[in-house]
Amino acid sequence: MSDTAPAAKQFADLGLPAPLLEALNSLGYETPSPIQAEAIPTLLSGDDLLGLAQTGTGKTAAFALPVLAGIDVSLRATQALILTPTRELALQVAEAFQRYAQNMRGFSVLALYGGSAFAPQFKALERGAHVVVATPGRLTDHLRRRSLKLQDLRFLVLDEADEMLKMGFADDLEAVFEEVPEQTQKALFSATMPPGVRTVARKHMKEPKEIRLHSGSSSSLDTITQKVWEVSNHHKLDAMTRLLEVEPVEAMIVFVRTKTASLELAERLEARGFAAAALNGDLSQQLREQVVDRIKRGLIDIIVATDVAARGLDVERITHVLNYDLPHDSESYVHRIGRTGRAGRQGTAILFATPRERRLLHVLEKATGQKIEPQALPSADAVRSGRLNKLATRLNTARENASSLHQQLVTDLQELTSLDATELAAALLAILPSAKTLLEPVSELPSAPARQENQFDRDSGLTRYKVQGGRKSGLMPKPLVDVLVKVGKLQRQQIGHIKMFPEHTGVYLPQLDQDILNRLASAEVNGVPLQIRAWPLPPGETESRPTRKPKRDFASKPRAARPPRKD
Ligand code: AMP
Repeated sequence: MSDTAPAAKQFADLGLPAPLLEALNSLGYETPSPIQAEAIPTLLSGDDLLGLAQTGTGKTAAFALPVLAGIDVSLRATQALILTPTRELALQVAEAFQRYAQNMRGFSVLALYGGSAFAPQFKALERGAHVVVATPGRLTDHLRRRSLKLQDLRFLVLDEADEMLKMGFADDLEAVFEEVPEQTQKALFSATMPPGVRTVARKHMKEPKEIRLHSGSSSSLDTITQKVWEVSNHHKLDAMTRLLEVEPVEAMIVFVRTKTASLELAERLEARGFAAAALNGDLSQQLREQVVDRIKRGLIDIIVATDVAARGLDVERITHVLNYDLPHDSESYVHRIGRTGRAGRQGTAILFATPRERRLLHVLEKATGQKIEPQALPSADAVRSGRLNKLATRLNTARENASSLHQQLVTDLQELTSLDATELAAALLAILPSAKTLLEPVSELPSAPARQENQFDRDSGLTRYKVQGGRKSGLMPKPLVDVLVKVGKLQRQQIGHIKMFPEHTGVYLPQLDQDILNRLASAEVNGVPLQIRAWPLPPGETESRPTRKPKRDFASKPRAARPPRKD
């Protein structure tokens, strides 16, 4: 390894309690992102905080972890309030709290947002929630109705404060600040710092500590070409397979965010026949060296790595770096892409970005002093001709090695089979394992739709179907998926979220045509007929579910009476 990296801070150094550290470990988080390394100790020490940070920097954990550290689970009262501009973000943040609190028994979090019925929200509030994540309009409605009480509040977090002000929530925010107890600790996160946000901070926060993520210095990366592919989360693996078919990849390093993701992706690539291995901080130094040695010697072609494990990696063969997940900051990005274009060779760095992440690109462009060119996903045709070209190249090389003995074999075979030259070549292709892919169908990969993503992204655009059998009858997701794949001829990656109920099960699938429905009509799982049928979502349903059309909270209620924004 060549360049040395500064010792990264560990989660264990930040002062977080053991149940949270264990949760982070089980989620596969390896090291804190820069905003987490700075914000967590600040918030744990009780200071107010003003953080300039965008989505993707890990800001949710930066406030969720210290908030959770201060929650008293035995006190059944709302102790933390998080405000977010949209319903999607509220759900996403609530889900993050749940993940990080997985080892805190009895912990509960509630998302409150406009555009859905009040009754279930009243009920949930009566039951009590330690953390409430809410959009400002709906929150002030609840405060007015006294359905939410804040006398035990210890933390108030404003997430994406600039967005909330832009959407005209200034009055609601003021109302919330008026309502919270004097000693409440406050944190405000914002991607930009317009005067309106500064004013809120000055007026309501106590000497907040300011954290800015600096965008890193511009490095010379002359030998690297950068490209971006817009891919939604659930198409990343297919996009990567496609990339490997059309790009002249000799060896590649793929970056993901977590240790778990590095293992999973390496396994999935191996299952698809690629020579891949994971490289992450859980491996001993000796195993890490072995992985690096194997890619150097060409025994494997793909390493799926986390940032920390791959720092300083120096392998000439690496022609491509793939940012499968975006890095948390631009410094990591510069480190990542510097793994290619070594020893004067040309390298290519490709970035998978979801629509929501598109706005982060200019930060990376600034850090690298280069434009990141958008590239259309290769069409099915491009993949087919890529496959054919690869085989043609192999045949041309093979011709040089083919001896008169091979030619004699062909003549003998023709005599034995009475096939003509084309028929014989076709038959040989049919039994040649590496030619199998030539006939495999290639589907068009949809480019990611231009809309906001949320944690249900993998389900958006899918239709909910109901099948008979649920928890009571012992239905498990795996056999269900197996039947959908085997009988319905669906591809595994087309199958979205599966939600089990006692008597039945909801499953998100692409719109099924009549052919597939006919095939599934008589299908059974564990002897229970599936009886699959479309199951449209009722309007106003409050259960966590995919949102097809992101609806902003302010759209649910006329806000014409608001004074115009000043910032
Ligand atoms: P956020 O900026 O909070 O929206 O987080 C972006 C993504 O990064 C989320 O999918 C998090 O689960 C993930 N994430 C946050 N912190 C870390 C970390 N320290 N290591 C790995 N992944 C993380």
